[in-house]
Formats: sequence, C-alpha cells, structure tokens
Amino acid sequence: MLPRENALGKSHKAAPFKQMFTLMADFARDSGDAMQENPRLLASKLTQERRSWLAAERLLELKQAELFAANKKLGQHAQQLSAEISETRAEVETIRGENQRVKSHLSAANRKVALTERRLWQSIESITDGFALFDGDMNLIMANRAYLSVFDGLEEIRPGVNYVTILQAMTDEGIVNPGSFGPSGWRRMMTERIQEPRPEPVVIQLWDRAYIRFMDQRGPDGDLVSLGINITATVKYEQQLKEARTVAESANRAKSAFLANMSHEIRTPMNGVVGMADVLADTGLSDEQRLYVDTIRNSGEALLVIINDVLDYSKIEAKKLELYPEEFDLERAIQEVLLLLQPSAKAKGLSLVLDYDLFIPTQLIGDPGRIRQVLTNLIGNAVKFTTEGHVLVRVTGVPSETTHRVKLHISIEDTGIGIPEDKIGHIFGEFNQVENERNRQFDGTGLGLAISKQLVEIMDGEIWVTSEEGVGSNFGFKVDLGMAGETEDRLEKPLQGLGQIVLLSEVEVKRVLLADQLEKLGAAVIACDTGEAAIQQLSPKTGLLLVDHDSAVGADLAFGEAVRAQDAEVPILLMSTNPGSLKGLPIRELAQGTLQFPPPRKDMIGQITALSRHQGFEPSAPEPLLPRVMRILAAEDNKTNQLVFRKMIKDLEVEVTFANNGEEAVALYQEISPDLIFMDISMPRMDGKEATRHIRALEEELQVHVPIVALTAHAMTGDNSEILEAGLDHYLPKPLRKPDIITRIEAVHHSKLAPLRRPQSAD
Ligand code: ADP
Repeated sequence: MLPRENALGKSHKAAPFKQMFTLMADFARDSGDAMQENPRLLASKLTQERRSWLAAERLLELKQAELFAANKKLGQHAQQLSAEISETRAEVETIRGENQRVKSHLSAANRKVALTERRLWQSIESITDGFALFDGDMNLIMANRAYLSVFDGLEEIRPGVNYVTILQAMTDEGIVNPGSFGPSGWRRMMTERIQEPRPEPVVIQLWDRAYIRFMDQRGPDGDLVSLGINITATVKYEQQLKEARTVAESANRAKSAFLANMSHEIRTPMNGVVGMADVLADTGLSDEQRLYVDTIRNSGEALLVIINDVLDYSKIEAKKLELYPEEFDLERAIQEVLLLLQPSAKAKGLSLVLDYDLFIPTQLIGDPGRIRQVLTNLIGNAVKFTTEGHVLVRVTGVPSETTHRVKLHISIEDTGIGIPEDKIGHIFGEFNQVENERNRQFDGTGLGLAISKQLVEIMDGEIWVTSEEGVGSNFGFKVDLGMAGETEDRLEKPLQGLGQIVLLSEVEVKRVLLADQLEKLGAAVIACDTGEAAIQQLSPKTGLLLVDHDSAVGADLAFGEAVRAQDAEVPILLMSTNPGSLKGLPIRELAQGTLQFPPPRKDMIGQITALSRHQGFEPSAPEPLLPRVMRILAAEDNKTNQLVFRKMIKDLEVEVTFANNGEEAVALYQEISPDLIFMDISMPRMDGKEATRHIRALEEELQVHVPIVALTAHAMTGDNSEILEAGLDHYLPKPLRKPDIITRIEAVHHSKLAPLRRPQSAD
C-alpha cells in the first residue's frame, strides 16, 4: 500500500517541474531568434523570463513544502500503523498461548474422565450385585457382569435391548419364578412398576431359589439405574427367625399355662395350711407352740403372695387374663389400700397421704380388683422402700363431658431410697430387682412391677417412673375410665359458711394438701404447724379445730388441755390413720370426733358439717348450679395493653386472667383451664409461640384443644404461617380492635356457659 501511494504522490507532485522545464526549453529556442531581431525586445523578454523563472522557483518552493508536510504525515501514519500491527501481533500471540493452555487442560480433563470412567466401570463390574443402566426409553445402556450372569450368555441381552424384551426373556427362559402372578401377570406387574416415577423395591425369585431385591432409581434426565441385590441369606434368616419365634411363643404359652395351673394347684392346699394354722393359733397353745404356728402361718402367707404373683404373671403371659369392669369408688379403693398399708407405714413413722382431685368423680367404671392390685403394688413398694418421710398418692384427671369418661393420672411419690439411674430401665421387667447391699433386706418376687405394667397396658394405659437415688421415686400410671351414673355435683362448696377451720399438723405435706382440699370444698382454713399458733388462732369465727393426732403435738394431752383452757367450746376433730386406737385416750375425751386419715371426702364433709353446726354455723345455702362464666386467659406483658384489653371487654360477662409472660401463661393455663386464650406473640422470658407449644403439648395428654388467638405486634404477613404452625388458631393484629376481640370471644362461647351479656335491667 505504502509504496504505491508514494508513487502516486510523486507523479502528482512532478507536474510543476515539467512545466518549468518546458518554459526553459521554449526560452532557449526563442532567445536565439529574438536577440538577433531586437535587443530591447530581448531585454524585456529576459525580464519576463526572469519573472517567470522566479514565479516558477516560488512555486517550486511551495510545492516542496507541501511535499515535505505530506511526507511527514505519511511517516507518522506509517509509524502508527506499524505500532498497531505489533499490538495486534502481541494479542494474537496471547490468544495463541491461551488456546494452547485450554487445549492441554482439555486433554488432561479428557484423560481424567477416561480414567474415572474406567475405574467406575471396574468397580461396577467387580460388585457382586447386579447393576444396569437404562435410557429414558428403557433401552439398556450398560449392565455389569453380575446382572448379565443371570441370563447365562443369552445373545439378545446386550446394550440396546429393551426392558420389555428382558422381562420376556426372563419368563420365556424360565429364569424367574413368576409365582402366583403367572408369566404374563409377572411381566405386567414389572412393567407397570417400572413406569412409576419412583418404583418401589421389588423382590423376585430366580429359578435357583435365589431372592433378588430390585431397587430402581430414575435420574433427572430420564435414565434409570437398576440395582439387584441378592438377599437370599436374609430371607432365609428371616424365615428361620419367624419359625423360631412361633416355636418360642408357643413354648412360652405352654410354660405360662403350666405355671398358671401349677400355681393354682399350689394355692389351694396353701390356703388350707394358712387357714388351719389360723385355727390352730386360737387353741390353747404354749408360747413355744404359738411361735411355731405363727411361723407356719407367716411363711404360708408369704408363699401365697409369691404364688399369686406367679399366677397372675402366667395368666397375663398366657393371655388368659381378662378384665371385669364394674362400677366402683376409686377414692375408697385407694383409701382401703392405704388402710391396709397403714400399719407398716406407721411402724416406720411414714405419712401416707392421699390427694384426690376434688374435681374428678370418684364413681368410675373399671376392674376394681386389678386397679387395686396395681395400687397395692405401687403404694406397697413405696412404703417398702421408704424409711422416712412420706408416701403421697395423687389422683388427677380430666373428665370429658362428651364421652363420659375421665383420663386419670395416678402418681405415687415417695421419699425413699430411690432407684439408681442404670437400673431404672429394667425394673418393669420380670424378676428384676435393684440388687445391692441396701435393698437386699427387702423381700419380694420382683414380679410386682412387671405385673402392674402388664395390667395397666391391658387397660390401655401407660405406666412410668422417675426416681433419684437417695431422694425418692415417683411411679405413675394413666388409665382412661368410664364415669358411673351422674357426675357428682363437683362444683358445690359444702363447707362454705361453716366457720374457720383451724388446722394443726406438723407434717407439711399433710398440712398443705389438707388445707388445699378444705379450701376447695369452700372452707376458710388457717393452717398451723405448732400448738401455740393453733391456740392463738382460735376466735369466735372458728367453727372447728382439726388436729393431726399422728403428729407429736396433736397427740399431746397438754396441748388438748391448753385448748380447753382457752376455749371450752370449740369442737376438736382428731385425725388419725387409726382412729380406733384413740379409744379411751384422755385426749380423745377432750375431742368431739375422730376422722380417718387420709380422710374420705364424704366422711370429712359430714364430720366437719356436724361439728360446726354445734357451734351455730350453717352451711351457706348450696349455690344454685349456675352455669359458670366463660374464662379467658390473656397473656400480655404490657400493663397498658392489659388495661385496654379489659376496657374492650368490660361489657361482657367473662372472667379474665392476665399472664405477664409466656411462662405465666402456661402455669395459669393449667390452673384456671380457660375457655379461650389471647396470646401476645412477643413477650419476655417465653414468647407466645413457645408458650403455645407448651400448652399444646400439655393438651395432647389430656386430648383437649383450647382456642388460642395470637396478638401480633403488627400485621406481619410473613409470620402468620409460623404463628399458626406453633399451634395458634387465629391471629389479630395490634392495635387491637374491640369488634375483633368480641367476635373471637363469641365464636368460642357456648350454651353451657353463663350468657355473655347480662339481661338488660330496668335501670
Ligand atoms: P419386688 O418389690 O417384689 O422386688 P417389684 O417388681 O415390685 O418387685 O419391684 C422391682 C424392684 O424395683 C424392687 O425390687 C426395687 O428394687 C425397685 N423398686 C420398686 N419400687 C421402688 C420404690 N418405690 N423405691 C425404690 N425402689 C423401688
């Protein structure tokens, strides 16, 4: 390009020179002739020529300058172009280098892929389980040796073959045992199965009785990986186990039946031995003879207990134990068990206390014998393994009005030796005792808890224990029993208006529980733990002095006399685990009545009412059984908001209780059993969601569901699903609006509750 442009430039710039040369030639030619003609003319011609010459020279200079400038420009241009060229060249070099690198990476990657593929294939080939890969159309892409070996060199089974053809070959060649499906049925089953998006594993049996479990998984691009595992050994083992189990079970049943029969056979003569020893003891015997007879009787009785346990256990094992449900009084049943155990408890100075929830009925439907057996065992153990303190039997529950049943929760708490942590898991097993130096002194068969567990489970209940070594144990069981007849008027307060009851016991657990029970029955109670305190509390308001005679001060005659010195009239009711034993005691003479402890409810109410009447107190007219007011629990930490809430519902006849945080809400929920809960979501200590979760967990046991309405700080749309997930039923955004609150209350209110709005009065 460049030279050509130069050449062009040259030819173009050459024009002025040519002109000049022509001029000079003309001048030379013309001058010879002219000079000869006229010297003047010559001179003028010369001047003219000189001028032209000068003009030509100037023109030449001009053109030369132009030429120079053009040249310079050309040079610069050339320079720039060559710079660009070398730049481009460098770029090309870099790209070439990069290409080289990519190429080498690519080939390294290719080598790696090949290696991995080879290794993978080797691994797949080496596994003993069958492996095959099919494409989206179910054509075989590849299969390992183990997979193909089943087909024993069948030509057609190779990559490319369709799944359907494989199935066909399997039935045609008798490779598979199609069993009850039959060949075509089996193929259909297998074809349908493989078309599922996620085929379930299938077990097939081959001609040689081998069992193969096929597991197939579809890949994202439609491929299907099929894995066939030989599970022959496992299947055989399972079969053997099943057979062994059947044999063992029938042997066990036979053993249990034998034991049941045997213990029955032993029991009859043993009853004779014990009975006759009893009769013999009543005849005139020497002291030595009496000792022998007593020993025979005691040993016989101990043996009978063991035999009864074995008998029961065998019956349960042989599945021969049946329940005989009937109407019975649970409270009385427990009282009787306590009464039976009272002597051993008393010998150790233990308090046996019963806390029977006043709000659950006592008349129930169940097998009283079997329930008593569980109670005897658990309370008996508690007494046996406790040397000091108390044994507390607690009965709580939730009656369901609709099913007329009550979910009972009975717990037996003791302050005994406890059970080591590593043993606690075993004690419900047969013949399992916590064997150590400490309790070797206690006798027993080790069957009691195993039997109790079985009995509770036959009643569709649950039994459990918590225990701390050296501190005590807490055994509990749950059973669901029918309520007999009409439920008692549980909400009545028969002791209301009967004057104050001054209660004296040095034993805290008795004092607290008794005071609580009396208060629930409507009494005003002043509980005292010293004689002086009790005497100080006596006043004209006192209806009765209730004294625990089993505690030291209660048995103290001096205390009785001090009471009489202070107040000659106040009725004294002595409470004792064995009221019969008080007969003839001087303190009994000072008292007006005795009461069995733990007190059966009816006796207690009867005695207290009778004695207080003597003092001129009358029970308030029994409250008409008005439907109760709806109870609302509102969890809200902010006092102002509490006030606002209260204001909003002031026109409604409801009872509102406020909880200041989630923890309080959970506690109050248990205490007041609300009909509806409003739950602030963000609260200190425990937030509303967590509190709700706790409440829902508690409810799961009781199988109830109280509506809970979340109060959310602002409309947090994103959070609502989370709120509902936590177990809340609805949500209301804050600031609260009166109509929303009222709508929610009205939605939950029902006809068994007192009306929400007072009837309009005249004023
Ligand atoms: P037994 O009382 O006849 O030995 P059980 O089956 O009733 O048999 O109890 C099994 C074992 O569990 C007892 O031997 C004792 O070690 C332990 N045990 C049961 N109840 C209690 C209890 N209340 N306190 C401490 N240990 C207990």
